[in-house]
Amino acid sequence: MTAGPPPVPWTLDEAATLTAGADLWSTPALPDRGVLPVRMVDGPMGVASPHIDERDVSLLMPCGTALAASWDVGLAHRVGEVVAAECHRRGVQAILGPNLNLPRSPLAGRAFETYSEDPFLTGAVGAAWISGVQSRGVSAVAKHVVGNDSETQRHSMNSVMDERTLREVYLKPFELAAQAGVRAMMMAYNRVNGVPCAEQGHVMGILRKDLGWNGVLMSDWFGVQGGARSLNAGLDLEMPGPPRQMGPQVAELVGQGRVSGERVVEAARRVATWAGQVDRSPRPSELDPQAVLTEAAAAGFVLLKNEGAALPLRADRPLAVIGPNAAVPCYQGATFARIALAEDVPTPLEALRQGFGEVTYEDGVAPEYRLPPLWALPITADGGERGLTVEYVPGTDAGAEPTFREVRRTSTLVWFAGMPGGLATGQPGTVRARTRLRPVLSGTYRLFYGGTGDVTFLVNGVERGRRPSPVVSGDVMGHLLRGEADHLDLDLTAGEEVRLEYVMTFGPARAQGLWYGARPPGVPDLLARAERLAARSEQVVLVVGETADSGVESRDRTTTRLPEAQVDLIRRVCAAHPGTVVVVNAAHAVDTSWAAQAAAVLHVWFPGQGFGVALAEVLAGLREPGGRLPVTFARREADYPAFDLTPDAQGDLRYEEGVLIGYRSFAAHGTAPAFPLGHGLGYAEFEYGEVNVRPQADGALQVAVPVTNTSGREGKEVVQAYLEQPEFEGVPAHPELAAFAATVVPAGETRTVTLTIPAHALRRWSEAEGRWVTPPGPRTVKVGRSIQDIRWTGHLSP
Ligand code: BGC
Repeated sequence: MTAGPPPVPWTLDEAATLTAGADLWSTPALPDRGVLPVRMVDGPMGVASPHIDERDVSLLMPCGTALAASWDVGLAHRVGEVVAAECHRRGVQAILGPNLNLPRSPLAGRAFETYSEDPFLTGAVGAAWISGVQSRGVSAVAKHVVGNDSETQRHSMNSVMDERTLREVYLKPFELAAQAGVRAMMMAYNRVNGVPCAEQGHVMGILRKDLGWNGVLMSDWFGVQGGARSLNAGLDLEMPGPPRQMGPQVAELVGQGRVSGERVVEAARRVATWAGQVDRSPRPSELDPQAVLTEAAAAGFVLLKNEGAALPLRADRPLAVIGPNAAVPCYQGATFARIALAEDVPTPLEALRQGFGEVTYEDGVAPEYRLPPLWALPITADGGERGLTVEYVPGTDAGAEPTFREVRRTSTLVWFAGMPGGLATGQPGTVRARTRLRPVLSGTYRLFYGGTGDVTFLVNGVERGRRPSPVVSGDVMGHLLRGEADHLDLDLTAGEEVRLEYVMTFGPARAQGLWYGARPPGVPDLLARAERLAARSEQVVLVVGETADSGVESRDRTTTRLPEAQVDLIRRVCAAHPGTVVVVNAAHAVDTSWAAQAAAVLHVWFPGQGFGVALAEVLAGLREPGGRLPVTFARREADYPAFDLTPDAQGDLRYEEGVLIGYRSFAAHGTAPAFPLGHGLGYAEFEYGEVNVRPQADGALQVAVPVTNTSGREGKEVVQAYLEQPEFEGVPAHPELAAFAATVVPAGETRTVTLTIPAHALRRWSEAEGRWVTPPGPRTVKVGRSIQDIRWTGHLSP
């Protein structure tokens, strides 16, 4: 018998208040009852600005795929601790992360935020990150439960999957998060099997009853459609505030008999318990954040190939650096969780100039932004400062006097609720942004402008474009992030300044945004110059990849190919210099059909602000590229078990591959990938000794693997154990990652790595019986360096 809950300390009205956020980032407070607000911040790659403001500088961690590529739970824990220290510094008690959805398709717009196509690797790295964050008294908020694995129509789409797939694959990371004691979870926007996640009683029931998890379940931002339905399904907290569907009005729902008082009290109790759990006193961390950030970036770099030991390079010899991402790197994806970076963070090019004696640079091609940032060009605000002068005017008389003026250094202005100068997103207002652009090149500039209201674009005081208010229904956050814009092509002369002005008048909305951009004219001989530099250089590194706006919330990609101009650049530079090292700065599986031409390929994801220094150290051989692939790279797009993420006319997206996500499908169907899950070379060489498997009393298997570093330098090895699952209820036999460990072995030495495969790795969800079962029969365990580089196979009777 367990003791009943303590007596209810609040009135029904008070309890109802606790079920909806107070503002954009805070839970409600009941000061008289000792319930303080929990202040949250968007994550997970660091502490995002609560005002979406570039002036709130914070530390940027590697993205999810980069962190998972380390296969290092100790590192994920340390990264979590650094994130928590940032939360303390910024006075917040909870961070919206980790993102435990799965990159089911390489086209997923938010794939960079997620960890791995393997649910266990995702859950293990996620749980370690959660433990790191929470060890410092800050709460993690695991998101988004569940099936939020794509972005197209994310507010309404329906992820259709069978119960086995739901439980074994997509809920698995959340199960591990629950076991790690995550204090809160966020329900996704999408539907699962027809029911919106904020109303998904079945899924919430699994978390509560099957997993016995008792933390706070909150909605994704603006994700509650019906307060009574969400509460009855088990949601505790509507976010953000002010309340829309839940909160004070819930008392009326109780009065009408639509929600029980007990349910409201239960939800309120969880929110209050959470508020009592978080640590509000700053806790300094002993970790050196910069050191962790550089280590974490390098630990995720995956060396896909290294012919003729092309890497490491010689730091004492001249180096040719080519490619757009060397000078304009992509550090992170484009979500509201964007982190404002300090301006002195070195780019890869700057760090390489520090690390190598003599560096020559050619960009080869221009970065291909969707909305090329105006901020990247020389622009001057009124006072001569770099940036734009932004003025705020109450009401819609665009010519009226502003009540506030500031200088901003960004290409996207976003406001939620309150705005400077006494404006509010919910009331009509005007924003004027102006700057002077001094073109470096003569030619045609494409100038972009867009926003949530009517935007007028003026050049030298003359109106040159007008974009009426867009119609926005549903996904407001997505609308702001997509930044759709009109453009004007204008011929400009180098050195001749032009005045650009963007005037937006807007009506009431949940959020407002104004954005602008400029694409300078192309330089005709960029590619030829890069080719010539490559041909005459002794060492060549070519850095290609994505732009800061290519991975975005609310939009999926259409291809895994790098931009054609970059592929062309790779081919031409590699032909000119066959020893070229290609560095790919993209946070998902990409088409690597060009890889045969490169001597070495290093895939670095979005590595966070440690990118530059880590790259210089790895290329110079001072550090190893420690990563192993957390996702499969296919040879052809048609080989991915799930690819197109467009729902059908009914909004359904069928998870037809079921439990055979990623590498499992490749293995089950005998399809050879370009680069398999778990693959990554590092700089050392390893041999495996005789593996010893010992069944444990609780049904677990202990697998002891001696690994010998046969090279002349210390190296990291990631030992991976896969369990071959026999055919079950029509799903073909396939391997599943069951355990892994990263270890560092000194040159010439042997270390025994002990992995534990838990008993529940043998369990299957039986659709026929509606419960977990452990199918009888022998099992095959494979131990190796990737799903394809298997060094030991054993057959076990359970
Ligand atoms: C995203 C969440 C995020 C929230 C707050 C939503 O649009 O899906 O991941 O935490 O906004 O910014």
